[in-house]
Amino acid sequence: MATTLPKASVVIVGMGWVGGIIAAELTKAGHQVVVLERGKNRGTSDYYHVHDELRYASRYELMQDLSKETVTYRNNEKVRALPMRSYGSFLLGDGVGGAGVHWNGQYYRFLPYDFEIYSKTVERYGKAKIPEGMTLQDWGITYDELDPYFVKYEQMAGISGEPTTPENVGKLSKPYPTAPMKKTPGMKLFEEAASKLGYHPYIIPSANLSENYTNPDGIARAACQYCGFCERFGCEYGAKADPVVTVLPVAQQTGKMELRTFCNVIRVENDGKKATGVTYVQTTTGEEFTQPADVVVLAGYVFTNVKLLLLSKLGKPYDPKTQTGVIGKNYCYQNNGASGTAFYDDREFNIFMGAGALGSSLDDFNGDNFDHSDLNFLHGANIRFTQAGLRPIANNPTPPDTPSWGLAYKQATLKYANRVLNIGAQGCSLPYRYHYLDLDPTYKDAYGLPLMRMTFDFLDQDKELVKFIAGKVKGIADEMGASNVVVKDTLSTYNIVPYQSTHNTGGAIMGSDPDTSAVNSYLQMWDAENVFVCGATAFAHNSGYNPTATVGALAYRTAEGIEKYLQKGGMLV
Ligand SMILES: Cc1cc2nc3c(=O)[nH]c(=O)nc-3n(C[C@H](O)[C@H](O)[C@H](O)COP(=O)(O)OP(=O)(O)OC[C@H]3O[C@@H](n4cnc5c(N)ncnc54)[C@H](O)[C@@H]3O)c2cc1C
Ligand code: SF4
Repeated sequence: MATTLPKASVVIVGMGWVGGIIAAELTKAGHQVVVLERGKNRGTSDYYHVHDELRYASRYELMQDLSKETVTYRNNEKVRALPMRSYGSFLLGDGVGGAGVHWNGQYYRFLPYDFEIYSKTVERYGKAKIPEGMTLQDWGITYDELDPYFVKYEQMAGISGEPTTPENVGKLSKPYPTAPMKKTPGMKLFEEAASKLGYHPYIIPSANLSENYTNPDGIARAACQYCGFCERFGCEYGAKADPVVTVLPVAQQTGKMELRTFCNVIRVENDGKKATGVTYVQTTTGEEFTQPADVVVLAGYVFTNVKLLLLSKLGKPYDPKTQTGVIGKNYCYQNNGASGTAFYDDREFNIFMGAGALGSSLDDFNGDNFDHSDLNFLHGANIRFTQAGLRPIANNPTPPDTPSWGLAYKQATLKYANRVLNIGAQGCSLPYRYHYLDLDPTYKDAYGLPLMRMTFDFLDQDKELVKFIAGKVKGIADEMGASNVVVKDTLSTYNIVPYQSTHNTGGAIMGSDPDTSAVNSYLQMWDAENVFVCGATAFAHNSGYNPTATVGALAYRTAEGIEKYLQKGGMLV
């Protein structure tokens, strides 16, 4: 029997970027907020002098414990889903700061095309261009409407980037607050090659600070040291924007936030129309508590958000057979299949140094920036050279004809340790009728609740896209003067074992029609006006970019929506 606690104004599930931004904005506006985080507390000092690749990058110190909670996965409905028992394809955040602690910090606003993808595709190519089963939808908001919220995130995080964007991406109404990151020799080679081919490269906007910065909330942070222990690590300098060094202290200073750690939320209490609070397990004692609240914010990332909605019977579950219902719909991923490795016999680059978001990229083949009339796919990919820091355990680059053991292998790994430049592509993932999330009928978590089940595979669309983008990657790599260029240009069945990207999206998507979306443009549930379902869960598809710029902007908009809701109630749209 759960113990019922005194009522809070707002309860937030999860203290990652989304939970942190919403907590900071609401407490600044004077509201009392309770945040429930299933993991432990963390701070910058935890990472002093621990550049330990084995601990953080290979053994996933900062990630969710898969023995307690994971997902099951199947390629299609004909096969039985099995649990993801060890990390591979994506890495889930856990503890204060969530995945925002160990992210890279590559910052990309989605394209204007993304938010109106259905209308713009039909306008340019006609309805027939959208393949059978592709459940493409507009997002119920435009790029211009989201712009002020992007700006808020950029100012808060101190995004470092070039002052203007190329013609083929969304405009900035305000320049990024800090200068771009340094341009390394590898980045120069990439940019020169791309420019020669007529493309429009630019330095990746970065949440790793290029210079010391004090944000509008008065939070001062130091510049990045290009230490190379960034992705999968916390930043010991506070140079990487993460929730712990940016929004959390702001919420704490107001004295209006109560952050409770080791609290795993298992249900949203509701009467079928509105939520009344949430129930959680205090994981150190096993006790259950119910936290009543006027507003419930789900900020526990895609899998938790959808799981809680389904377990709590909030919103109508998606049924792929009838294509009715919305909870679990439009699960998308990312398509990183096209890549190129340039090996240099005559040059060295100090690629052991770098930063999570250091690099250059281009969008000439992203979104609808090129004509798809004669192509068998929609959308595209951001093509990029990144220098995140090649660490020694995970990286032993050798040309393909190298033996995989013995003296020749050792000699090649030593020779090429600092002589490779990698070009990658972050490909979009478009929604499909049979790609969705639901509750697994067999496997359960540590609390006896069903695991989330993913049904997902790559489509012909993805395979065609990879082939096309790989051709562009090869063209750039060939211009970069390498001795040997190796390109990956094929994509087969989705496999959950190798790491690809932690850019899972969808499951409670936003839109303007309650029949086809779960939340409106404030991420307020159509079926329960005091429940806000936030993060990439709301993405109607996944773009050719990393998601957090758009996740962050939407979180600022949600915070504004909740404030309005607390004053007046009712649907905001
Ligand atoms: C290695 C890596 C690199 C990345 N690099 C980039 C990048 O360069 N650029 C980019 O844009 N994005 C990047 N991302 C993605 C980025 O980290 C996420 O988009 C972002 O952190 C999501 O924030 P969130 O608040 O929605 O979720 P999370 O950060 O996952 O936070 C959710 C929080 O909720 C908590 N929680 C979950 N379930 C419960 C529950 N039942 N009860 C209580 N608490 C719960 C979790 O413990 C967690 O702290 C990267 C991700 C990874 C893993
Ligand atoms: S590369 Fe920069 S931002 Fe990343 S962990 Fe090192 S100092 Fe921090």
